[in-house]
Order: sequence, then C-alpha cells, then structure tokens
Amino acid sequence: MSEAALIDVRLPDGSTKNIPAGSTAAQLAAAIGSRLAKAAVSCVVNGREVDLSSPLADGDQVSIVTAESDAGRHVLRHSTAHVLAQAVLQLIPGTKFTVGPAIEDGFYYDFDLPGGRTFTEEDLVAIGKRMSEIVEANQPFVRSEMSPKDALSLFADQPYKCEIIQRVTSGDADANDAGEVSGGDSVSVYRNSDTFVDLCRGPHVPTTGRLGHFALMKVAGAHWRSNEKGPTLQRIYGTAWESKAALQEHLVRLEEAEKRDHRRLAVEMDLLSFPPELGAGLAVWHPKGAIVRKLMEDYSRERHQNGGYHFVYTPHLANAQLFETSGHLDFYKDGMYPPMEMDNGTYYPKPMNCPMHCLIYRDRQRSYRELPLRLFELGTVYRYERAGTLHGLLRIRGFTQDDSHIFCTQEQLATEIGSLLDFVLSVLRRFGFDDFSYKLSTRNPAKSIGSDEMWERATTALRSALEKLGAQYTIGDGDAAFYGPKIDIDVRDAIGRKWQLSTIQADFQLPERFGLEYVGADNQRHRPIMLHRALLGSVERFFGVLLEHYGGSFPTWLAPVQVRILPVTSAHEAHVASLVTQLVDEGYRADTAVADEQLGKRIRAAKLERIPYVLVVGDDDVRANTVGVNPRGGEVQRDTAFADFLERLRADVREGSGR
Ligand SMILES: [Zn+2]
Ligand SMILES: [Zn+2]
Repeated sequence: MSEAALIDVRLPDGSTKNIPAGSTAAQLAAAIGSRLAKAAVSCVVNGREVDLSSPLADGDQVSIVTAESDAGRHVLRHSTAHVLAQAVLQLIPGTKFTVGPAIEDGFYYDFDLPGGRTFTEEDLVAIGKRMSEIVEANQPFVRSEMSPKDALSLFADQPYKCEIIQRVTSGDADANDAGEVSGGDSVSVYRNSDTFVDLCRGPHVPTTGRLGHFALMKVAGAHWRSNEKGPTLQRIYGTAWESKAALQEHLVRLEEAEKRDHRRLAVEMDLLSFPPELGAGLAVWHPKGAIVRKLMEDYSRERHQNGGYHFVYTPHLANAQLFETSGHLDFYKDGMYPPMEMDNGTYYPKPMNCPMHCLIYRDRQRSYRELPLRLFELGTVYRYERAGTLHGLLRIRGFTQDDSHIFCTQEQLATEIGSLLDFVLSVLRRFGFDDFSYKLSTRNPAKSIGSDEMWERATTALRSALEKLGAQYTIGDGDAAFYGPKIDIDVRDAIGRKWQLSTIQADFQLPERFGLEYVGADNQRHRPIMLHRALLGSVERFFGVLLEHYGGSFPTWLAPVQVRILPVTSAHEAHVASLVTQLVDEGYRADTAVADEQLGKRIRAAKLERIPYVLVVGDDDVRANTVGVNPRGGEVQRDTAFADFLERLRADVREGSGR
C-alpha cells in the first residue's frame, strides 16, 4: 500500500469520510472538526467501544463518543476510578484493589486496606489531592494485551485481580466481572504511569489530563463480589463530570436532594416513622402523614369512580394453590414472604393483587357486553426486599398499590389504552407533575408466550396511544416481560430527578392460566386480554416522591394543616377559636396555637410545618373581622377581610395551584 492510501469510514449520519489509511479515531475526529476533537473521549467502531487511539480500517462504522454524552461520561467516570485507585495505592502501600466501575452520576472503587484499617476524612482529602496531581501530570492511558499467565505474574501481589483473571479466563465470569476484562486467550490492561497498571477492558480517555472535574463523595463498607460472607472492603464513591459547571450543578442538585430527603422531612413534619421495633422496611403513619395519604387515596377513589372502575376488596393472604395457578410460586418466589402453615394448607401474604382480581372475573360467565371490565383496588401487597436495599418509603416491604386490572377484547384494546393513558396523565397532573417520559417495552421473541398476532395488536395499541398523545418515547426493544408489552411512565420532579411511577402492562398469560373467558356477539367463547395498571404505583412510594418533589410544601389541597390562626395575645383567643370553627365547618383543616408563646416563635413553628396560610389576629382584627394573612412563600397582607381570605382559600384548594 502506498503512503498516500486512503480509506473510507462510515459516520453515524450515514455519510462517509475519506481519511489516510491507518488513521486513528482521534485523527478522524480532528479531521471532522476541532470542536469534536476536543470533546472526544472514546469511540464506537463497528458496535464496539474502543479507545480513540484505535486504528481504523476501510469500511468501519465509526462514531465518536463525546464527554457530555452518557457514554462519554461513563468513560470519564471509569477513567477517574483508575486515577482514584492509583492515588490510593501510592498513598497507602500494601492496599489490595478490586474493582472500580462507573455508576450513575459517578464511580466507585473497592479496596482492601492493610491491617484492616479504614479510610479517614484526612485520607479522602489527601487522595483527592493526589488525584489532582495525577490529572495535572497528563499521563497517557496505554492499553496492552497479554496472556493470562503474564497478567497473573504482573498482578502477583494483587489477589483480587488474580481471582478475576482466573475466573474470566476459565469462562466463569459473571456480571461482577463484566466491566473488568473480556474473556478469552488474552487479558487487557491499562497503564498510565510506571507504577500504576489496572486490569481493564476499556475504553479510557486518552490521558489523565482529560479528567479533573471530580469530587470524592463518601466512604462505605462493601463486600467482595457482594457476598456478605466474603472479605469486607472499603468503598470510595466519587462523582465526575465533563466540566466544572456540570460538576457544580450536580453538587447543588445533591444538596437540594439532601434537603428534600423524605425521611428527614417526615421526621421534621411529624408525618410518619420507621420504629426499629416494627422491623426494617415497615412504617407507621402519624396523623399528619395519614391525612395527606387519605387525601391522596380519596382523590384516587373519586377519579376511579368517575372513570368507570368497579371497586373491589381482596384479602392479604391466599392459599398456595392460587399462586401456583398464577405462576407466582414458579416465577416470583424470591419476592414473596415465607409461607405460613395452617389448616393443613400453606398460605402466603400476597405479593400482587392480580390473581385475586382474576378470581372475581371468573366467578361467573362474562358477556362481551360487560367489557371492558375495570376492577380497582387500593390493595396492600407484601414483597420481600433485601434489608440492604430498603430505603425509606421508596423501597419498603409492604405497600399499597392503586391497582387496576382491566379485562377487554382484542378489538377494544386500542381505545382502552388510549383513554387509560389520558386518565393516568390527568391524575398525575393534579399531583403537580407535568414533565413525563415514556418507555415502550417490546417483545423478546426468545422469551415470550402468546401469538404473533396478539403481540402485534397489543404493541400497536400501546404505540398508537403514545403517538396520539404526541409523546416522545423510547423503545426498550425486547425488554417486555414474557407475557406482554408495556408502557412505563416516568415523571421529572422539581429538581430534575426522574421517577418511574405508572405502568400499563398488557398480559396474555394470566387470562390463559385462569381460563378466563367471555361470550362474544358470535355466541362463541373468547379469551379476554388483561391490562395491569398501577398509576401512583405504590401509595407509600408516591407519597415519598411527592414529599421530595414539594420539599414538604404540599399544595393547599393536600397540606396536613391548611390554615393556622394565631392570636396575638390571649385576649384574642376566643375570636380566633370562632374563626377556626368556621373553617373546620367548611371542611378545611385549620387549627390554632394559643398565646402562651411569643407570636414570632409560633409563626416560625408554623413555617417549619410548611403550613400554606398563617393568619394573625390582633385587636383591630377582632373589631373589623379582618386577619393578617401570612402565606407560605409570599408577602404578608394585613387587614384582609376574613371573607376575602376565605374566597382566596377556596380558589386555591379548587385549583390545586401549589401555593
Ligand atoms: Zn478500567
Ligand atoms: Zn396486576
């Protein structure tokens, strides 16, 4: 080949680029533009993620991965994890290092420190400083491949690395190893100084100089390969971003999230608690939390009643037979509580309401005229979650679903899903969410039941409902459960976090297992399709999400106390009591705090409870039947006629304006 030989590579937009043979991806990026070259951190060649230094061949499909993309951040974060390990090994000789993957928003690395010591605050500061020095030194990440034998001798004093090499090369690798090395005859390592080399499949940024916008967040205990019986390790968590601004934004977001942590607000506002005597993952609701929950549930019931749903109740326990029929004992046993033996039978707390709703459907012959049949229950279910994964209300062991099962004909499916989606969004909007994203999960042919026609019809129905809505949605190709396609709806909260809340799931399996039928217009028996739909998801989790979304400042229609009226002195207490009675009689949640403490102190206490309206009543107010209105987050208005305030309160509750 002559020196001037050229090759064509294909770019993501379908165009081709003509470059000198032997060019690397970095050179390709530079040929496309200096901005791309500057932002590039790695690349994907023919579907494989590789380093920018990889030479390209004629016909390669190449896309350059930039730092501000999700994939690019992943590379930045994992590369920063290497630098973290390098710093720790330099500062604490004798440390054994294990694995350091990129995770959402950051990375971690697990270490086995000599003599069982643990990291201190001072360690973290020193490690962060050393990492900055490594970044400053702009060391290149150099990849090399070697035989497992050579790799074992390179890592002779690193037992965890040796274990990974052995496991991977003997074909025993599992998800824990996936990020570390690819299997086969050779093992890849990345070196970025004379003294630091790590086992790694890559890719990495070209040099440590590309890093630097990182922060070390915290230290936690961890176990080797998540095995609780295995050695205890010390994990350092960090975050890393493509720019100083992005890092700053993330840290501010974290601070905001911390302030809004529902576990903290629940205590501060006296909403609920998790007493240790009760057991992990179980909460008791105090009056102020319970009233908010009741309002949420009342609203849900009202909407379902108006939406043509039939309310049902089902028990918390069921005979094992039921879960054999439903398939839960075959496919969901790990998520179920242990069985109870009684009356010569085996019983389980229910993990889901669906099988019981199937029994209601099957109790008598159904006609097509009854369909769609929409059953609704606020049904409490019990699911076993490992203790380590429990998290306040967001992950608990017993919770109540606003659970609906809709039985319909194939022909009704499209219309039903369309109106169901509208219904779900309208309810979520009332709770203050208006930024939604959608995911459509489609069939995995290798793992599914039901005919091609059923899948086609259900998937088309879900897709056209999304399209009619004009919604942008992502497709999880092959992500559907084996029994049917589904739509997941995520909401974005006030500080930009995404929460997965609602699901609309088509199910071809349970009607089959329970032998559900209806008699059609043709007088023949047919099988209905079943839709599972949880809207809030779990009432407990939704409450936790709402609490964080509002930072505790519930909109007036949901606030535990809507109005607190404060007498300036005890002389005004009788008048205040009559105003409170007026409000309570009208159905508002109003109270007072008597004048045995300073007014300022009582106002501060009310603010801490995030009460939407604090009214103050003094001498002039008693005479003129006025109040001083002190609205949450607003300006104080003195001498407001009580009737005018009442009008304002009515409008606020009606609109659910969130003030
Ligand atoms: Zn690596
Ligand atoms: Zn269900």
